Amino acid sequence: MEAQKLHVIFLPFPTPGHMIPMIDTARLFAKQGVNVTIIATHANASTFQKSIDTDFNSGYSIKTQLIQFPSAQVGLPEGVENVKDGTSNEIIDKIIRGIMMLQHQIDIMLHDLQPDCIVSDMAYPWTVESAEKLNIPRIYFYSSSYFSNCASYFVRKYRPHDDLVSDTQKFTIPCLPNTIEMTPLQLADWIRVKTSATGLFVDMYDSEKRSYGTLYNSFHELESDYEALSKTTMGIKSWSVGPVSAWINNDDERKANRGNMEMNIGKDSELLNWLNSKPNDSVIYVCFGSLTRLSHKQIVELAYGLENSGSNFILVVKGGEDFLHDIEKRVKESKKGYVIWNWAPQLLILDHPATGGIVTHCGWNSILESLNAGLPMITWPMFAEQFYNEKLLVDALKIGVSVGSKVNKFWLNVVEEKAPGLNIVEEEVVVKREEIVKAVEILMGSGQEGETMRMRAKKFADAAKRTVEEGGHSFNNLIQLIDELKSLKIVREHEKIRLDN
Ligand code: UDP
Repeated sequence: MEAQKLHVIFLPFPTPGHMIPMIDTARLFAKQGVNVTIIATHANASTFQKSIDTDFNSGYSIKTQLIQFPSAQVGLPEGVENVKDGTSNEIIDKIIRGIMMLQHQIDIMLHDLQPDCIVSDMAYPWTVESAEKLNIPRIYFYSSSYFSNCASYFVRKYRPHDDLVSDTQKFTIPCLPNTIEMTPLQLADWIRVKTSATGLFVDMYDSEKRSYGTLYNSFHELESDYEALSKTTMGIKSWSVGPVSAWINNDDERKANRGNMEMNIGKDSELLNWLNSKPNDSVIYVCFGSLTRLSHKQIVELAYGLENSGSNFILVVKGGEDFLHDIEKRVKESKKGYVIWNWAPQLLILDHPATGGIVTHCGWNSILESLNAGLPMITWPMFAEQFYNEKLLVDALKIGVSVGSKVNKFWLNVVEEKAPGLNIVEEEVVVKREEIVKAVEILMGSGQEGETMRMRAKKFADAAKRTVEEGGHSFNNLIQLIDELKSLKIVREHEKIRLDN
């Protein structure tokens, strides 16, 4: 029986925003009876292994195959294997180099395991060839929105940002169903000018076209126009099976531990007690994802902005910002705020009835998780495709208030170099406390604008819940994809028998 089962390999890229949704998706496949193997290095596997063991012990066919991160070869201490561990550009470069060196080990493992399909993170373009060698489909796992993939495609194709008089002049992204305006400064630098990363990204995006299709952690009801656009104009087959996080992590323990197995949040933890003491929809949760650390100046503005807004808030900080201890002490006394250092149990917080909104960097996972909880958002994109996601929230879906973030810049480049490549000093990147107060007032206040956004967000939350139920779009897409892969397996096996004879 086991040998006949569809065997799918999942190959996550080690950064939480890519790994978390892929592990959740792998677990969904296993729950539909697929034999699932996840390939990961030791330290990365330790962040999700408990959930795999629980699934396995419940009778699902899912396991992790470990590979060795080349720590010594790249000059990193043991256990530093994830992009989120990079506290400087130098360390991140070494981590990326180590990840790239895994290709050989992975190819050997794929050859030994002889799977029926590879679901590969977008960041591994070489898995197209790996799949070709095994004569199996390669599925491109895109860990962001249809909207961002379409927007980025048309920006790369038509380059509407070229030949403008300044970097702050607006251009319209061609071919999209909504009128979406951006400035060149909001695009990733590798698109605007040729950088050392340009070739890598071009290879990544090109590999999508050479794949069997693309898997999205999104859902039809959220961005159907862009889903259609990607299938027709861009001509890429795709399946949206999200929101995967809410689908699979449906009890409090799973929610608390998702993404970090060390959390162990009990029912009477300090954080939960604090949240339980707050009225419904009164807390704003402020988190910039798993990678971004704010510059000192920015975090000062943010902390004072939140305090001045008068709203209850939870602030997640990733750096060792000493001055924040004073603010933490003060807001603890007034009971207005709660500071979380390093890693927050995000799903648990977003789903708590006291939480009424989020300040987000527009990472796609955070957006989906907020939407699933019916929360409107204050949008504060930082880098990569986050500026496109902001446009989806603010201009297309109208469930976001922008703080007016102007420059697409990886956090380390803002902090380390003061953004020299773009002739921008940190001063200009900083969002001022008054702007933060204004956005919080709109989102959390009783005005019409906030009210309407809350209603819209709640509708998306209802749709998000229905889409993963039996008969819903995402549910059906998952079943359809698995059936399709099973048919391909049968065809391949018949072909093999024919050739053997
Ligand atoms: N996350 C979390 N706690 C944190 C920071 C992040 O649980 O303190 C999770 C968050 O729920 C999401 C993922 O990490 O699932 C971050 O992905 P996202 O796409 O939002 O942003 P990225 O980290 O890739 O910038």
